[in-house]
Amino acid sequence: MAVIGGGISGLAAAHWLDRSGCRVKLYEASTRLGGVVKTAFLEDVVVEEGPDALLSRADIIELCHSLGLGGDLVAPAVFGGHIWTRRGLRALPRGIVLGLPASPVAAVRSGLLSPWAGMRAGLEVMTPRRLAGPDVSVGKLVAERFGAGVAEGLVDPLLAGRRAGMPEDISLAAAEPAIDALARTNRSLILGLRRAVRRGEAGAPPGFLAPAGGMERLVDALRGAMRAVEIRTGTPVTSITQGTGATYAVSTTGDAPVSVDGVVIALPTHAAAPLIGPLSTAAARELAAIGYASTAVVSFVYPPGAGAPPVGGSGFLVPSARGKITAACTWYSAKWPAATPRDGALVLRAFVGRAGHEPALEWDDDRLAAAIDMELRSAMTLTRSPRTWKVSRWDRSLPEYTVGHKARVARLEKALAAHATVALCGAGYRGSGIPDCIAGAEKAAAAVRGQIPAATK
Ligand SMILES: Cc1cc2nc3c(=O)[nH]c(=O)nc-3n(C[C@H](O)[C@H](O)[C@H](O)COP(=O)(O)OP(=O)(O)OC[C@H]3O[C@@H](n4cnc5c(N)ncnc54)[C@H](O)[C@@H]3O)c2cc1C
Repeated sequence: MAVIGGGISGLAAAHWLDRSGCRVKLYEASTRLGGVVKTAFLEDVVVEEGPDALLSRADIIELCHSLGLGGDLVAPAVFGGHIWTRRGLRALPRGIVLGLPASPVAAVRSGLLSPWAGMRAGLEVMTPRRLAGPDVSVGKLVAERFGAGVAEGLVDPLLAGRRAGMPEDISLAAAEPAIDALARTNRSLILGLRRAVRRGEAGAPPGFLAPAGGMERLVDALRGAMRAVEIRTGTPVTSITQGTGATYAVSTTGDAPVSVDGVVIALPTHAAAPLIGPLSTAAARELAAIGYASTAVVSFVYPPGAGAPPVGGSGFLVPSARGKITAACTWYSAKWPAATPRDGALVLRAFVGRAGHEPALEWDDDRLAAAIDMELRSAMTLTRSPRTWKVSRWDRSLPEYTVGHKARVARLEKALAAHATVALCGAGYRGSGIPDCIAGAEKAAAAVRGQIPAATK
């Protein structure tokens, strides 16, 4: 078997195949495993360059336990989100559920919505109707139901926080399935949200976890648990073609093609498209049509006394209408106290790039860090310059599930149906969070394995 891509998806697929008794070759283009999962040090503390937490789901907790990481999982010390409004930082109140104002009054009281925007949002209960028909954008649904104030002031920054794209482009069904389900089954979303809270189906803050010492421990643990996986880093796959019989030939630069019984392609869709092309032009077209945004994570250490985040807060999100470069910022040393430098300095992690093209990402590191520092100082009234900073760039790393995404993925899988031992997984399909990537990878591995009962290759 071949697994292409050594990010968390490829590692999870290889780990699953290995446990099911297959011999696996894992190909990774870069010289390191983990993809966007990358743990680094800033001064004397661990600061993630990519993801910093896992949604606390039963499947990922079980995997961590099976890898010996179960006892080392730590939860963030604080969870309170804020939004950087024109009137300053405002805490997200309890009445915001799934990013929507289940209580417009609470949103107005907290300063997140103007009284007018709150009144407009409250009208949602008076003009009820169920969502029917094809997929719509998150922005369209929210603007129609709650008004532009909620779309711009609440939903836009919350999507930016997940770096999922602009609300007017993003698929409700693919990116916000819980809201889609509520909108299709309730005549009023406000009433539907309140019912969901009463039933305990929504409203509680999502739990997050991370391995103490850094997310790359998950990468190391997956790698360490593999028995018969040949890992080839620094080896980009250049083509996959149909071989003799039911086999496939996997080619890399410089080496003779390797014949395998099955292939799991665990790549961003823009990297998968050219490899799938020789097998299905229709599938390659669908893959290439899935857009990705680039992002940069800029981490800072501000000296003690520079300022402090609000108590209980974990970070803030920035509405795009504010025209800032910063899309979101984590109060990192408050969220992860183990990341507090010995002298008590403040560690912040800012994100740039929320959708499509962000011109600031073309700036050099010095200019980018200086511009973000200015914004952070203004948002948090910090009084001193950072003493250390680091820019981590992730090119075309954030898939954008635009309207019709689920139908596109279905078309893509249909187009590949003739190749039952070739499967796709990764952030571009059914969820980009690490638990979704791992679940998708295991499903892809199982699908390929299921077609080759006696596979050992
Ligand atoms: C900045 C940032 C912060 C995030 N924060 C969180 C978070 O806190 N929690 C969370 O759950 N998720 C988070 N995510 C999302 C999550 O981390 C990613 O969706 C997930 O890690 C993607 O894993 P992957 O293996 O599918 O892809 P990648 O990590 O992109 O891995 C793909 C790998 O394929 C390799 N490759 C490419 N082309 C080839 C080729 N031709 N041959 C061989 N190898 C190739 C690449 O080098 C790369 O290593 C974040 C993402 C980013 C970018």
